[in-house]
Amino acid sequence: MIAFEAVDKWYGEYHALQHVTAEVARGEVVVVCGPSGSGKSTLIRTVNRLEEIQKGCIRFDGRDIHAKSVDVNKFRSQVGFVFQNFNLFPHLSVAQNIMLAPTSVLGRSRGEARDRAEELLARVGLANKADAYPGQLSGGQQQRVAIARALAMDPPAMLFDEPTSALDPEMVGEVLQVMKSLARDGMTMMCVTHEMGFAREVADCVWFMDHGGIVETGSPEAFFANPQSERARKFLSDLR
Ligand code: ATP
Ligand code: MG
Repeated sequence: MIAFEAVDKWYGEYHALQHVTAEVARGEVVVVCGPSGSGKSTLIRTVNRLEEIQKGCIRFDGRDIHAKSVDVNKFRSQVGFVFQNFNLFPHLSVAQNIMLAPTSVLGRSRGEARDRAEELLARVGLANKADAYPGQLSGGQQQRVAIARALAMDPPAMLFDEPTSALDPEMVGEVLQVMKSLARDGMTMMCVTHEMGFAREVADCVWFMDHGGIVETGSPEAFFANPQSERARKFLSDLR
């Protein structure tokens, strides 16, 4: 569903993605891990065109998403992306944050969008927070609103870039729980995360990156028990 075909990206002289070829299949959960600066954020951000690429091709459901004909804003609004820092609009209520894109991009009525927002809030365990403002919520609650907001566009896939890294430890679990339930429901997911427990439990496949390349891929069982590369062995032993 999300296919990287010999993708290269440079930031100026710096070769940030080096000939990346890999695919996330429909319904699959891929966890991307690797040391700081290895290119994980860069890779995931190319999928909704927050970063451009210079060589190769990225296909989403077969379509070349970096082609000139693609309407970037429309495409971006329809791929669910959850960032480390929530990025909610502080001056809008929780419900308004969730309703914004469905009403303005998909042309849904306010009533319809509000109903759906309430449904999604219940799904992420925040049924009573529709009229709260982001500043009144904990980090874990804000991140769950961010997930609900992404889901409101009925995205075919969800992308997560370290969704729990900015949270206090006691709030990590509630966000991972929501991600696990999405995975169980068959959502296609690409997750950059340092939560190796999540990777073991939920991932269908782990991609290990270093120096802008995918060094190895494998099932979590195989990757954690028997990493193939020296770099992955070192990465895993440094985590412990
Ligand atoms: P982390 O675990 O710290 O989030 P990462 O694996 O997500 O790291 P990236 O953010 O993708 O790494 O960065 C990969 C490399 O590209 C790094 O060396 C970084 O300094 C460089 N880089 C990232 N963004 C830019 C930019 N806008 N301009 C120049 N270099 C950049
Ligand atoms: Mg990053």
